[in-house]
This record gives sequence, structure tokens and C-alpha cells, in this order.
Amino acid sequence: MAAVAEQAKNLRTPIVCVMGHVDHGKTSLLDKIRGTAVVDKEAGAITQHIGATEVPLSTIQTLCKGIMGGNVVVPGLLFIDTPGHHAFTTLRSRGGALADLAVVVVDINEGFQPQTIEAINILKQFKTPFLVAANKIDRIQGWTPTKNMPFIKSFANQPEFVKNVIETRTYELVGKLSDLGFSSDRYDRIRDFTRNVGIIPLSAKTGEGVPDLLMMLIGLAQKFLEDGLKLHVTGPGLGTVLELKEERGLGYTIDTIFYDGEVRTGDTIVIGGKNKPIVTKVRALLKPKPNREIRIEEKFDRVNKLTAAAGVKILAPNLEEAMAGSPVRVTKEANLESAINEIEAEMERARIECDELGIMVKADTLGSLEAIVNELRAADIKIGMAEVGDISKKDIINAETINDPLYRVVLGFNVNMLPDAKDYLSNTDIKVFNKDVIYHLIDSYKEWERVQRELAEKKKFEEIIRPGKIKYLPNCTFRQSKPAVIGVQVMGGFIKPGNTLIKPDGSKIGVVKQIQERNENISIATQGKEVAVSIDGPTAGRQINEGEVYYVDIPEGHSKVLEFQLKDTIKQDELETLFEFLAIKRRDNPFWGK
Ligand code: GDP
Repeated sequence: MAAVAEQAKNLRTPIVCVMGHVDHGKTSLLDKIRGTAVVDKEAGAITQHIGATEVPLSTIQTLCKGIMGGNVVVPGLLFIDTPGHHAFTTLRSRGGALADLAVVVVDINEGFQPQTIEAINILKQFKTPFLVAANKIDRIQGWTPTKNMPFIKSFANQPEFVKNVIETRTYELVGKLSDLGFSSDRYDRIRDFTRNVGIIPLSAKTGEGVPDLLMMLIGLAQKFLEDGLKLHVTGPGLGTVLELKEERGLGYTIDTIFYDGEVRTGDTIVIGGKNKPIVTKVRALLKPKPNREIRIEEKFDRVNKLTAAAGVKILAPNLEEAMAGSPVRVTKEANLESAINEIEAEMERARIECDELGIMVKADTLGSLEAIVNELRAADIKIGMAEVGDISKKDIINAETINDPLYRVVLGFNVNMLPDAKDYLSNTDIKVFNKDVIYHLIDSYKEWERVQRELAEKKKFEEIIRPGKIKYLPNCTFRQSKPAVIGVQVMGGFIKPGNTLIKPDGSKIGVVKQIQERNENISIATQGKEVAVSIDGPTAGRQINEGEVYYVDIPEGHSKVLEFQLKDTIKQDELETLFEFLAIKRRDNPFWGK
């Protein structure tokens, strides 16, 4: 026992982030965890941090009475209060994820949804162990609830048909996880948690299964994280900014999660800033007042010292340039130089490699910027610039310098558009997409891009000179020259004024000036039509003679587009005419138009 206690002293509290699709119950689950722990007197207290909630091991042990084994060395769990993968990606530590573990909440009745998949892909990328909370089991028809009971006990009390529904739905989740490359099973059937993802059916409403989830998180932390959690609880603090906030009467503050070491009032800290590292001194460390006995002007308690893992509000001068996701380091004056260098290196690592040509991306935090860039890359979308911050007039001006219309775009993720940018934008053709769900953003851009490509294609098609073949009809010479006016039949494709005509031997005969049908000018004559055409250049009876066939001369560039891009979209008679025309051109030069 002494050894275990000794071990526990060196382990910090693992940090847990809750993710999943909207409305699947992330907030309810966090509330339930807080509520269960608060209400249960015997269970002891939870500790409210800034931006996080700590559930001590003793609480979890009480809740899990009868289902939890001994020898636990992890001191508890620190839940990040803001659910969603946005918080997960924002909170970084040394290039990795700050959260040690994650819970992916999925409504068991709805199954996987786009954000469920997005969350799991992010966790995969960060190699973060996770559990799946299959929520809302109480909604399954016939479920008999028992408040806060462990799932395995409550499940045993259910009728057979309810058990069957749970089994079927669980296996549907197993199938989806397998599609994403994870082997999984209901948690109580898993032996090796390093190879399998545990699924815990639960209800954030009745609390059933919540003890199982907490127990599994502790187990997972012990399995995966013992090394990672052995931290220098007494060393200089390391943390990540959760949010930059202006507090009334206090000025700028940073809500920070410390994942290592300790921090004291008066400490020198270095923070990653917008342009360069910020060096400042902690003026106060603020924690929420317990029991909500809050008078407005005194929302916080001041503490002198804090040990990781913990969430705290730091009051210090010069915080304006700090960003959500910025690293924070406590340092001694003597080590200041190296602390600055390390922060600089960390910020540099977070900088994003861009393509020579591509769209502009703005996001609210370093982590979210990286997440969206990863998703854009996966969707093969080129990125010209990627930055943290609101959409400014400068961004719109930058986009205007790009020639490719498909890249004259600014994508904003969870950011605002500044008023001057909005004004300026209205006089440009720059397209701005600004949303707070990554997949909505990417889908909208892709849809827009598709439509733009189609429009461009259509325009290309309209401008292109198309194949045409005509026959000079017998007894239809209406005027000999300047211009020659003759009667023709369109044999294939069509002709338009402006078309140059050639003979089957390749020689040019002149340019179509006008086309008339029953004495009316027309702009196009299609296959089968008999029309009168005036042709600048030849003299009837000399260069051109009744009974001959002529082709529209197509420039080589247009011919390539027709043959290689539009072939499938043009009609048969036009296509045949094209091939006859190509045969003429390729008689002397087999590579013409290739
Ligand atoms: P979030 O968007 O993922 O944070 O989802 P919420 O926690 O806001 O939950 C969405 C809705 O589902 C709310 O109306 C909740 O009351 C409801 N809800 C969440 N969990 C459960 C559950 O376990 N059972 C039932 N019946 N409803 C739930």
C-alpha cells in the first residue's frame, strides 16, 4: 500500500476531453459527472477549476462500489469543461494534444454522425486513447432505469428484448469503428485496452453507466499513461491558454490549463504571442469561488500556488497578444532566454506549411487552424495562407492578388469578419466562407468549387470553335465574289458567322460572314439545315465549286479541349465531323492537336 501511495504522489491527474456530434449529449454527460459527484455526499467533493472540473479518485471509488478493483494510482480525472473537438485541438502541449484521454459521445439511437467521425479522426491523428460513450440508453423502448447504477448491473435487470437492442446497436458502433480502423467491443468484454476501444452504453440523463465510464477512464489512464503522467509536480509549470478573456475590473486574463509542474503568484511566465513571445509576471492566480456564493465583483478566489493538472485564470500585464492554444511556461529569471527560445520553437512548429497557390484559411486558435488544415489537405484543397485571427481587410486584399478564381477565397473557422473587411468585401468578387463546424466549411467550399468549375466549363464550351461540315449545293451560286454567296447544307455539327472554312485537302477558302435562312440573318445553322452563306475570300467557280464539301477550321487549342475534355458531352454528328476534321489535320502531322 505504501508503495502505491508513493507512486500516486508522482502521478498527475489525467486530462479528459469530451467530444462527439452535436446533441448527442456531451454537455449533459459533463453535467451528470459534475452533478453525480456533487450530490453524492459520501463521495466527497469535486473541485471546480477554471475551464475544468476535477473528480478525485475517492469520488470515483464510491460511485463504482462493487465494480472497481483496487491498486489504483491515478489521483483522479480532470475534465475539460468545454466539450467538442474544438477545445481538444485548441489545447495543445508541445505539439501534441493536451488531453490525455477522450470520451467520444454517440447517441446509441442515432449512431455515428459526421462530427463523430471527425472527432475520431482527430483522436487518431493525435494518437489519443479514447472510450466511446454510447449515450441515451434510457431512450431505448422498454428500458427500466435505476438512477446512477453501473451499466453492467442495470443491464442485467433489463428484459431480453431490451438487451438485444443494446447488443445490436453496440455492434453497429463496432462496425463503424472498424471502418475507421479501430477494433472495439463493449467494455466489459475487452481484456486488452491498448488494442481495443471500449464502448460504454450509458445515459447522461439517468446516470446509468456513468460509474463504468469513470472507472474505465481511470483504467485507461493507468494502462496508457503511467509514464506520461509521471511528472515533475514540483517543477516549473507548463500549460496552454484555453482562452484570452477581458474581465471587468481586472483587464486581460488568460484561462490556462497547467499540465505539468507548478505556478505561483509573482512567477515570471513566457507565453506564445501573436508576433513574439510575451514575457510577464503573474499578478494573481484566480480560481472560481466554491458553492456559487458569488458577489459580482468577487467572482474569484485568489490562490498563491497551483499544481498540475489544474485550470486557472492568470492575471498579468501585457496579455493582449496571447492566443487560445498558446503555450505558457513558468521560468526562473536565469533561464529566461532558453524559455523564450522554447516558446518560439513551439510557435514555429505550429506554423503551417503552405502551397504556392491556394485559398486563405483563418481560424481562432493554433490547434483549430492545424485541424482544419489537416482536413483540407485530406480533401486535396490547396492552402495558400493559414493564420490565426479574425478575417481582416488585409486578408481580402491578399485574396485579390490571386489570379485563379477558384482560390480567390477566404475560409474562416470560428472567427469574426472585421467591419472594414465586410465593407471592402462588398466591392470585390472574393468569396468568404465563415462557419464553426469544420465539415460544413469544407463541404460548402467544395460545393462552391464544383459549381465554379461547371460554370467555367460552360463558358469554355461557349467560347470554343466547334466542328462543322457543309456541302455547296448544285445550282446554288447566288453571287460569285466579294463576298461569294452560295447555298449550302449543313452535313454535321454546325456553322456560325466568323468560322473559317477549309477544303478536305486542308487548304483555306475564307471566312463565313453571314448566314441567312429565308432571307433572315441567323447566328447558327445546325445539321440538316439548308442556308445561304456569304464567304469572304473565294470566288465561286474558281476556288470553290458546286458539290464540294467544306469544314470549319478549328484552332489546335480548341480541338484539344473538344477531343480530350468535351468529347463525352457533344452530339454524335458533331463528333463524327470532329474526327473527319482531325483526319485532315493529321494527314500531314500525326501529332496535330495531341
Ligand atoms: P451536446 O450538444 O452533445 O452537448 O448535447 P446535449 O448534452 O446538449 O444534449 C442534447 C439533448 O439530448 C438535450 O435535450 C439533452 O437533454 C438530451 N440528452 C442528453 N443525454 C441524454 C440521455 O442520456 N438520455 C436522454 N433521454 N436525453 C439525453
